Amino acid sequence: MSRRGVAILGSTGSIGTTALRVLERQRERFRVAALTAFSNSALLAEQAERFAPDFVGLVRPGAADDARERWGCGERCLVEAATRDGVEIVLNAVVGAAGLDATLAALEHGRRVALANKESLVMGGDLVRAAARRGGGELVPVDSEHSAILQCIAGRPAMEVRRLVLTASGGPFRRWTREQLERATLADALQHPTWQMGRKITVDSATLANKALEVIEAHFLFDVPYDRIEVVVHPQSVVHSFVEFIDGSVLAQLGVPSMELPVLYALTFPDRVSDTGVPPFDPVELSPLTFETVRRDDFPALSLGVQAGRAGGAAPAVFNAANEAAVALFLDGVIAFGDIPRAIESALARHGGTDGGSREAILSADALARRHVQELF
Ligand code: NAD
Ligand code: MG
Repeated sequence: MSRRGVAILGSTGSIGTTALRVLERQRERFRVAALTAFSNSALLAEQAERFAPDFVGLVRPGAADDARERWGCGERCLVEAATRDGVEIVLNAVVGAAGLDATLAALEHGRRVALANKESLVMGGDLVRAAARRGGGELVPVDSEHSAILQCIAGRPAMEVRRLVLTASGGPFRRWTREQLERATLADALQHPTWQMGRKITVDSATLANKALEVIEAHFLFDVPYDRIEVVVHPQSVVHSFVEFIDGSVLAQLGVPSMELPVLYALTFPDRVSDTGVPPFDPVELSPLTFETVRRDDFPALSLGVQAGRAGGAAPAVFNAANEAAVALFLDGVIAFGDIPRAIESALARHGGTDGGSREAILSADALARRHVQELF
């Protein structure tokens, strides 16, 4: 059997390096056909040496890099990597709106997109689904909650699903009071209790904007209306999500908090393969498993995002862009933690009604929201 070619977009990040660890163990089934990174040319060169892909792309080469001669460069390298001959699966592990065009192009070209880059689906849910229909591509989630839901639904039609319940760790601030939250520092926000991730998603997990993105992601992936998608806090991050069916039966998928299994499953779906790297499961050691109500009033980004999802059009893109812009300002020390949801709310109030019917409309709403947030501070 020939090995399936995988392109990894964002190979130097947290999910990208996890994926390369998985692929190293699965060399008999898959080969690394393309790698791209944003600016970390040193790590990218190491990866290229080890995996010998057909294509290497660096979005932003430094002045001293000879990358320009050796590799594909610039923003187009993502789409190029995603649509090359010999690429069957595109693992989109880029962070943020920068992943949109590669998701669309890969689906238009009939590829499987193993989607970590939830932002592309949130921004352009309808466009992404239309691209998959037109090109025959397939969207398989990498996000642990959505991987869990996919496994629980196991091919049953959406009409048999009564409710999706996404679990949320609650982040580092689960027990913080509102006053403490206002004063939370960047170092506090980057201390995630259960997951090791890139900085942007770590902050999103602290504000719960990540869970809002995931509710929208679940809506588009599984075609379940928003009033049947719920969130529950589960601090141990062992139950990755629940699906309740119309007969009242509830299925959940469990595992230790590691992204190796969801990455592997997105590559092999619907098959399962043996993999010795995925950590063993011991229910006694992982006990107790507990669940709590989300403190929606203290973490307003969650409800703002779900409202944007319900509003549709470009509202989810505005939510996503305002969040990205605000998180970038927070990471740069310019704004406070509590300013993040305030910025999102303000951007949605101003630009939430923008049309979102085309890629251009979505990108223009994205740009308006970013500018709006920058001008607030
Ligand atoms: P990260 O910051 O560690 O890595 C991001 C990657 O994207 C890097 O390789 C970087 O080179 C690339 N990148 C950044 N900006 C880019 C741009 N403008 N153009 C092209 N490439 C760019 O982030 P991560 O934690 O690996 O997360 C990646 C994606 O996966 C995010 O969408 C995140 O929400 C999602 N995700 C992550 C986890 C996790 O456990 N880390 C879990 C679920 C979903
Ligand atoms: Mg997740």
